[in-house]
Order: sequence, then C-alpha cells, then structure tokens
Amino acid sequence: MQFIPTLALAILIPVFSLADLSGLRICLDPGHGGGPGTGKWFEAVINFQVALDTEELLDAQNPDSVILTVRDSMATQATLSQREFVANSNNADFFHSIHHNAFAGTSNYTLALYEQLSAGGQPQWPGAANTFATIVSHEIYLALRTTSDYGARGDMDFLGFNLGVLNDLTMPGDLSEGSFWDYPAEIRRLQNKAYNRTEAESILFAFLDYYNAPRPATGTLNGIVTNLTTSQPANGIQVTISPNFGVDSVYTTDAFGNGYFCFDQLPPGNYTITAISAFDTVSVTKSVVGGMINHKDISLAASAVGAPTLRWIVYQNNAVLVNIAPVTGATGYRLFYTDNLANWSDSQFVDITSASVSLTNSFPADTTIFIKVRAFNSVGISEFSSDTYGCFTGDRDQRILIVDGFDRFGGSGSWSENTHDFAARHGRAWGAAGVGFSTIANEIVGSSMLSGFWGVDWVLGDESTQD
Ligand SMILES: [Zn+2]
Repeated sequence: MQFIPTLALAILIPVFSLADLSGLRICLDPGHGGGPGTGKWFEAVINFQVALDTEELLDAQNPDSVILTVRDSMATQATLSQREFVANSNNADFFHSIHHNAFAGTSNYTLALYEQLSAGGQPQWPGAANTFATIVSHEIYLALRTTSDYGARGDMDFLGFNLGVLNDLTMPGDLSEGSFWDYPAEIRRLQNKAYNRTEAESILFAFLDYYNAPRPATGTLNGIVTNLTTSQPANGIQVTISPNFGVDSVYTTDAFGNGYFCFDQLPPGNYTITAISAFDTVSVTKSVVGGMINHKDISLAASAVGAPTLRWIVYQNNAVLVNIAPVTGATGYRLFYTDNLANWSDSQFVDITSASVSLTNSFPADTTIFIKVRAFNSVGISEFSSDTYGCFTGDRDQRILIVDGFDRFGGSGSWSENTHDFAARHGRAWGAAGVGFSTIANEIVGSSMLSGFWGVDWVLGDESTQD
C-alpha cells in the first residue's frame, strides 16, 4: 500500500507490517553540541557519533528521509525550539533525541522519556511515543548490557517538567538516555566507535520493530575480553572471527581499558572467535542469530602473573607456616628454598596451591632454611617475591622473631633494588648462633604473634618509600 505520512496514520503505523521504512521521515536529534569547552561536550560527541551511525543504518532501510536536527557538532548549539522546528517543518513522522545520562558516576542504566500531559497523566502521544520509548530503552539495554532497563518514563513523572525538546513537536517523539557518560567503565566504552555503532544498531532495531518492518538478516557479535591475571578488561588483544564472509576478520581491543570487540553484518550461523595475547590463545564458539546483538565474552591471560609478597615464614609445632599475600590470577605458589643464602637451585622447591599453608616434612629438619616465592598459573610463572624470609626447622630453647621492616628502595633510599634478603641474613646469624628463628613482615606482626618467642629482632632501615 502507499503510505501517506499524515499525523493520524503515523500514530496507527504499528498495526501495519512494512517491508522496510519506505515513506517514513525520521528526525534524529543529537543532544547538545557547540564545540569543545561547551557544557556536556563529551556527551555531545557521543550523541553525534550515535546519531550519524543511526542515520546511516536507517538510510539502508529505504526511508523517505532521515533528518538530523543538527549536523555539525562544532556549530553553535541549537536551541531546543530550533531542534523541534527542524522536525516540524520537515513533517517528520517520528522524532528521536539521542542523549546519555549522568549521575555522580554511580549509575549506568538505560531509560527513554516521552512527553506526558501532567504528572501521573497520559502521554501526549499515547500508543506512539511511549510505545517507541519502551522498545528503544529495552533494545539499547540489551545491546550495551547496561545495569538495568528503566524503560519508558513520562517526563512529568520522572523529571517533574516537560522536556523542552519534545513539548512543541507536531509528531510523536522521545529522548533516550542510552547509558551514563559519567560512569567510569562507561566513559571508557563510549570512546569506542564500534560501541557507539552498537547503540545505533539497537536504535535501528527499535524503529524496525515499532514500524513492524523486518530486522536485518545479519547479526552483530560483540563481547569483552578479560585478562585472567588481573580480572580487568584487556587492551590490545587481537580477536579474530572465522568464517568471516569477506568482512574484516580481525578486531584489536582498544587502549581505553574496555576489552571490547565487535563484528557486524554476520550471516546467522556458528562462528569461532579467537583471542590472542603474548601469553595465551583462547578460542570459543558462538551461534550468531540474525537481526540481533549477540554477546560472547572471552577470558585469557593477557599479562604475567604478579610477583607475590611473603608475609611470614614461621616454625611452630613441627610445621613450617607459610603465608603469602594472595596474587590475583595465581593458581599456586612455588617456594624455592636453600640452607645457604649464597646458593639457590632452580630444582629445589615446594609447590603449594593456597597462599596460607602449614607444611610438615616438606623441608629438611633441624636446618636453617631460607625461602623466596614465585606465583604461577597455567600460562607462566611470576618474578620472585619481594624479599627472602626464613626459619629454623626445629625446636631450640631460644627463639627469635625477625620482623622485616625494610621496604624502601630506589629514589634517594640507601637500597636501589626492590628485593632484599636482609631478614634472611639476620636469620643466618641467629641460626649459626644456635638460636631458633622465624620471620614476619612488619605490616603483619601483632602482639598476639609474639608468644613463645624469646625476643624480637626488628630489621629497620629505610622503611618509608617516600622522602
Ligand atoms: Zn544530554
């Protein structure tokens, strides 16, 4: 049928099923603008990027026209009335204003607002603006995986006033707050243009659903690559997809701390996604559904496991108690030991899977032993621990607790290395003198740990790491 874009028909459009967006005039409004230094400039840049991508995606659906209220983000900021005038004078069928929210950096939900006649009252365009707002909020929420879908809200109920960019429209319109531009993780994601385009795709889906037009046959696949070693999104990871059907098959995660990757225009089917770091390669499979934003997250080791820090090596009741500050991403710790501080063997070690253990018969008895530790996981082993600690593995009449209080290194400090064996050297002397000893870090030691010891040997030096 020939579609006639009158106001009355526009409101009824959802009951028709269209082949595409033929005959429709859609007005997109990128919120804010006016160039660097103007208020909400960061948000304005994002809004423009999403609007331009949405325009391009809508144009592929054969509309009569897609009108942007403002085309140049550097131009003098258009007033709200000027934006409405563009939509009204072009006889747009629908007006959609693109924004991103802010709230003290603590929220990241999705919301769409429509004009309401009064608080608690009816929408200005019932069954149209509020219907689209419900759809677009849900689609953006699904695409960006924000924390929740607040859905469609009337402006009088939500804000207590009518939105100036909606209240003089002569067609239904809404305003989406896709996500929060002041939420720390979202600040980083919103700087990724592929992420902006994903939001645009979700707005396209909302228009297609609202007008009962079919979605694209192809789908989008995106996800987050997380560094197993740090549990944080991983930068600079090469992600490949196979098969690729002629589209770009490689996406390298950005440098903003997002780990975000995205492939679009994928025919439905099964795909293999491979993420590659200098330490690890991980392949996963994902079935891509057409007309959807499909998600698949990947975890891989993207950096070496961090070096652990010894907290104490204590001999007590025929056992050596080992305590290490746990290292993220470590699956175990390797305790290298020697009875002679001068000689360490790569093959003389005990592996433990917990950062706090009680070991019996793991070390030679009645011996002065020294221990330093490395963390490991499936892809590698860390550097050595900060310091070397030790104990005497037997009962002696006199027992000393050595407290390691030497932390300073580099700068103007007296010790330039970031590891030392000063506590162990004290232990060597006590052991040779026939005295039992254990070692503990000064950050950990408390008075309750002193019982059973004959005395304390507190190793000082440059404790402060600042001048
Ligand atoms: Zn805004």
